[in-house]
Amino acid sequence: MALVDTRKMFDSALKGGYAIGGFNVNNMEITQGIVSAVAEEKAPLILQVSRGARAYASMAYLKAIIDAAVAENPNIPMVLHLDHGDTFETCKQSIDDGFTSVMIDASSRPFEENIKVTKGVVEYAHDNNVVVEAELGQLGGIEEDVAGVSSDDVSEHLTDPDEAVEFVERTGCDSLAVACGTSHGAYKFKSEPKLALDVIQEIGERLPGFPLVMHGSSSVLKEFKDLINKYGGDMPDAMGVPESAISEAVKMTVCKVNIDTDLRMAMTAKVRQVFAEKPREFDPRKYLGPAREAIKAMVKHKLHILGCAGKAAECS
Ligand SMILES: [Zn+2]
Repeated sequence: MALVDTRKMFDSALKGGYAIGGFNVNNMEITQGIVSAVAEEKAPLILQVSRGARAYASMAYLKAIIDAAVAENPNIPMVLHLDHGDTFETCKQSIDDGFTSVMIDASSRPFEENIKVTKGVVEYAHDNNVVVEAELGQLGGIEEDVAGVSSDDVSEHLTDPDEAVEFVERTGCDSLAVACGTSHGAYKFKSEPKLALDVIQEIGERLPGFPLVMHGSSSVLKEFKDLINKYGGDMPDAMGVPESAISEAVKMTVCKVNIDTDLRMAMTAKVRQVFAEKPREFDPRKYLGPAREAIKAMVKHKLHILGCAGKAAECS
């Protein structure tokens, strides 16, 4: 199966009350770990490439790795998605490079400007049979609330349901990343994790059947956090989104959940463990191999949290 776009996946996810994982890839081992997990679990997959990943690995190498994954797994529907495209040019380049889905993130710009930029990307993308994820609202607001800003300030960072309806109607985007209290990175909350699931609920009611996306939704799994801290790392305050909250959100209209930090932490934990336990080890296969296995096991677990294990056929 060639690369597909997200339309069939999101239709099936909406009907079935589950979500597809958007997993970020930067190199061969991460890609192989993710892909072997979805192959065993028969799950649909969105492979995400950020601008940083493009710069790190070069698109030619990443595309060749992803093409190999597609060729080896003919029964797994896979999307190649640009994560956080910041300009029309970045999105256009990715569409021209063969991406089947792009994100335009103009969420830091004023509302009207966000609409204008997003609309331009949607027109070019749809002309090329590519789908577009846009973003409205800003992530990380509740993190600031825990640090002490008032609840009035927090509500300014979350996606406004009225604006979401207008934004989707005027831009024609295919899915929308919403701010509901999550944030990027390993330090999402300072004390108790708090998600504004009511915002997702309300946007879902105002835009029935429209796919929403959650960014910054790694869980910072205890297993890997503990290994990192045990073997010389220093991340005692790392905290992610509870998997119970993810499970609730995917039953609403959240169709895509982005996971990057958990991949990074799995890989880092295993590499640290090998170096600590075998100080004489210098064969990259002996530490990248266990890292790849850890990613595979972690992703398999995530596919069950998202509910998309076993759904490859109905998403094809
Ligand atoms: Zn993101």
